[in-house]
Amino acid sequence: MTLINSEQPLPIAIYFGGTFNPIHHGHLQVALEVSETLNADSVHLLPNYLPPHKASPDVSAQQRAKMCELACLLDPKFKLDSRELNSAEPSYTIATLKQLKAEHPNRALCFMIGMDSLQTLDTWRNWRQLTKYCHLVVAARGGYPAQFNENVRQLLASNQTFNPQDLQTKQSGCIYLVETSELMISASQIRQRYQKQQNCRCLLPDKVNDYIIQHHLYTHVDRA
Ligand code: ATP
Repeated sequence: MTLINSEQPLPIAIYFGGTFNPIHHGHLQVALEVSETLNADSVHLLPNYLPPHKASPDVSAQQRAKMCELACLLDPKFKLDSRELNSAEPSYTIATLKQLKAEHPNRALCFMIGMDSLQTLDTWRNWRQLTKYCHLVVAARGGYPAQFNENVRQLLASNQTFNPQDLQTKQSGCIYLVETSELMISASQIRQRYQKQQNCRCLLPDKVNDYIIQHHLYTHVDRA
């Protein structure tokens, strides 16, 4: 873990990656809960690049970004970071984290992932290096699984902290699990509902729902 000399706690910024196709209340509520637990200054939504064969045929990367931008109006802590969308090919998380660390040397960067991602973290490119550039904050919906594979178990054994203050006094290197609400909402369920012209008004922010309807998004058969 990287220790810093200053006694001052570092401002915490949370980065939350996902396809956000579309962004919904499940994403936003969990991000807010994690930001409260960590007393974070900002939550940066980082929509991922989607390869053409996985992208919804009638929704562009710019439209996914626009929906995140509209969702950001819900809370001043939410910000959009569209760097991965603007690249021509998939961005590896490790490369994004290196960039972010270089841009924000005096912030504690917390990269937020779901428990499903933690369980398969050892399949990510340069996964052992991830905590060199950030803390990993894991949103654990409905508790924690009993078992992790050997690689993840070892990583947790050396990096897991149970004290959220560690995330403000160290620049990187911690893994912290936060128990969050379990909202049974998924983007794929939402896409299917729009395709069948069913109402999604309570599943995502009003402005996102209005945008989807106005632009006739998700009316084609889902490929994802
Ligand atoms: P899809 O249904 O298309 O797979 P999704 O909403 O599950 O979409 P992403 O948009 O890629 O997936 O989600 C980004 C992150 O948000 C993932 O880490 C996922 O675990 C988490 N997430 C998705 N839905 C919820 C939810 N209802 N509650 C908490 N976390 C969620």
